[in-house]
Amino acid sequence: MNLHEYQGKDLLADFGVGIQRGIVANNKAEAVDAAKKLTADTGTSWYVVKAQIHAGGRGKGGGVKLAKNLTELETIADQIIGMQLITPQTPPEGKKVNKVLVAEDVYYPGDSEPNEYYVSVLLNRETGRNMIMYSTEGGMDIEQVAENTPELIFTEEIHPAHGLQSFQARKVAFNLGLSGIAFKGMVKFITALYKAYVGADASLFEINPVLKTSDDKILAVDAKVTLDENALFRHKDYEDLRDLSEENITEVEAREVGLNYVALDGNVGCMVNGAGLAMATMDLIKQSGGSPANFLDVGGTADAARVESAFRLILKDPNVEAILVNIFGGIVRCDRVAQGVVDAYKNLGDAIKVPIIVRLQGTNADLAKKLIDESGLNVLSATAFEEAAKKVKEAL
Ligand code: GDP
Ligand code: MN
Repeated sequence: MNLHEYQGKDLLADFGVGIQRGIVANNKAEAVDAAKKLTADTGTSWYVVKAQIHAGGRGKGGGVKLAKNLTELETIADQIIGMQLITPQTPPEGKKVNKVLVAEDVYYPGDSEPNEYYVSVLLNRETGRNMIMYSTEGGMDIEQVAENTPELIFTEEIHPAHGLQSFQARKVAFNLGLSGIAFKGMVKFITALYKAYVGADASLFEINPVLKTSDDKILAVDAKVTLDENALFRHKDYEDLRDLSEENITEVEAREVGLNYVALDGNVGCMVNGAGLAMATMDLIKQSGGSPANFLDVGGTADAARVESAFRLILKDPNVEAILVNIFGGIVRCDRVAQGVVDAYKNLGDAIKVPIIVRLQGTNADLAKKLIDESGLNVLSATAFEEAAKKVKEAL
């Protein structure tokens, strides 16, 4: 689950990570109130207005702007809220901005050269360990740094049993070229950041930039936070942080009915029980010349109601030209699934305009095939994998 910058920063601050302070606003009036409150709390008289969308590169797209007084702030907030923001990380049509973060300006006037660092925490899947990735070359062009001068990006792996050791935090601060108060500040920052990563069950923290202010404070100016969905049950309070308007509508609906659905951009919808079989089915679709429109695991209890919900989800995608149902009856009996398909089909009536290929294998497969074949519906049955592939090909 992805968080907005303002939510990510709040989470970091809860764990003692230094942040650029800010207040979220939904309209220009709220933005002005936020700015006044910030001035009262921090003494700042300049503000940055930052579009809150689930995508980076906002600075480049015009979604981050500096305001030097309240009048400018009001104008900028009004302009950014409601805009369609296009950045290198959004879809081509951009994303609509519903909120802005009004933040204190931490790049103090007169700063000759602000020191922007890059720090992220993530899982190294090769070693199975968390690691801190960091660079002196933070700011808006980190992708180019990774491409052209990868030697400027350092990593520090963390042993799962020992956790982050203090010498490791010091090493990070040292490699970033810091000394004195800033060095101590960075050690504290890294230590708190890692504590937050583990404590929140995050799967990604990307703080770019981390800023060293001219008075040697170390602050998170940006925060990209991804939480591990599988650990959300341990953090009921984080559920509220989900912004449904940022997520794929069909995926949201799938979650509501308890189905595991991921939207893809192909033309063959698929409904499968078990994630492994679903992956194999997507390969099969590719081999037959199609391309999967989705990943959908209906799970172990593929009864009529679930099959119907699954059909409804798949049919929402206008690119779907055929649907492949691939069920292995181990615990679930194939004839029950087949009955589910027939019932769902009848319930959906005119909604189904594309051919459906059903491959059922396992317990009572013969009975299931008979049920489908005798239903009189536009449903083709198959028993073998290849046979199903061939029928998909013919249907396209
Ligand atoms: P991103 O472009 O989506 O990664 O958004 P960031 O939060 O990283 O902001 C983009 C850029 O805006 C940063 O790299 C900074 O250079 C600039 N910026 C952020 N906060 C401030 C601030 O307080 N003052 C000034 N002058 N610039 C800022
Ligand atoms: Mn950034």
